[in-house]
Amino acid sequence: MTILIIEDDINIREILHYLLELNGHTVTAVGDGPAGIAQAQNSPDLILCDIGLPGLDGYEVITAIRKLPQCSEIPFIFLTARAERSDQRRGMALGADDYITKPFTEKELIDAIEARLRRLIPMREKIDQLTNERHAEIGANWSHELLTPLNSVMGGLDLIEQDVETISRDELKELLQLIRDGANRQHDLSQQLVLYFELQRIKETPSSYAGHTCSVDKAVEAGAAHAAEAEHRTNDLTVSCAPAEVRLNEAHLTAAIAAVVSNAFRFSKPGQQVTIRGLQNADRYIVDIVDKGIGMTAEQLNSIGSFKQFGRNKMEQQGLGLGLTIARFVAEIGGGQFALQAGPNRVGLQARFDLLVV
Ligand code: CA
Repeated sequence: MTILIIEDDINIREILHYLLELNGHTVTAVGDGPAGIAQAQNSPDLILCDIGLPGLDGYEVITAIRKLPQCSEIPFIFLTARAERSDQRRGMALGADDYITKPFTEKELIDAIEARLRRLIPMREKIDQLTNERHAEIGANWSHELLTPLNSVMGGLDLIEQDVETISRDELKELLQLIRDGANRQHDLSQQLVLYFELQRIKETPSSYAGHTCSVDKAVEAGAAHAAEAEHRTNDLTVSCAPAEVRLNEAHLTAAIAAVVSNAFRFSKPGQQVTIRGLQNADRYIVDIVDKGIGMTAEQLNSIGSFKQFGRNKMEQQGLGLGLTIARFVAEIGGGQFALQAGPNRVGLQARFDLLVV
């Protein structure tokens, strides 16, 4: 275990260092807050921090450390002569995991740290494990998907607040657009998450879904138009779909199309067309969504091959995210499949829904 000690009292610091090394830990010990914050970036397994430090106190140290992305979950224990309830509440609100009260005997210290490590480390491993499972499931980095659109909302608001007295009307309009786009993406993402869980439930009990039908051309047009407006790319969209009925709820098909068309816009540049064609072939209806963007690397393309159905592992390898997982779920519920391959002449990507008609 690697342990970081932040303690200004040299006697306590050296005793702690010695005792913890004696117990098999790798220890780094520093005497003030700024040095502790710098050392925390090496991601120790545990941080022991005094509250009464000169300069930055323990509360300021934990606040700074919790803001570092790689340090947000490191177990953090305050080492303190004060163990008042109000101090504890304050520390906990700032993200501390526990307190050890001075003075302590050697045995008390080691027992306390070992007990806390036993409790904290499995919890941290469990969180990693859970987020890893979810990562595999949707092929996405959850924290990234969830927080990125929010960054433009928060960042835009910060910039307006900082310059509220002097900001020009044009700058304000630009920042409001940034905030609006972020809020819209966050809104779509929240809806996608709700839909993802709903579709998972439907996949578990397909009988609950019997009887849904919709006109595929209307759902494709609505989903594609929504995505094009959100990405400010209405001039880059061409849709031509023959009419037909498929075995899906219209809202579900619309959302799946919107998710795939959004990706097509994100993978291509303004001015590059996204073309959608829908045609019935016997009892199947094929919707192809083709962009002229960067496509995939040769390695990614080799691993996909030609119009293979995306399985869980494929989604994970490609990191294609929540939207494409929704597309796959909707296609499967509609008696078909969803697949990706390189676009014509290996330019861009071609996404295909292959659905059962009514
Ligand atoms: Ca102190």
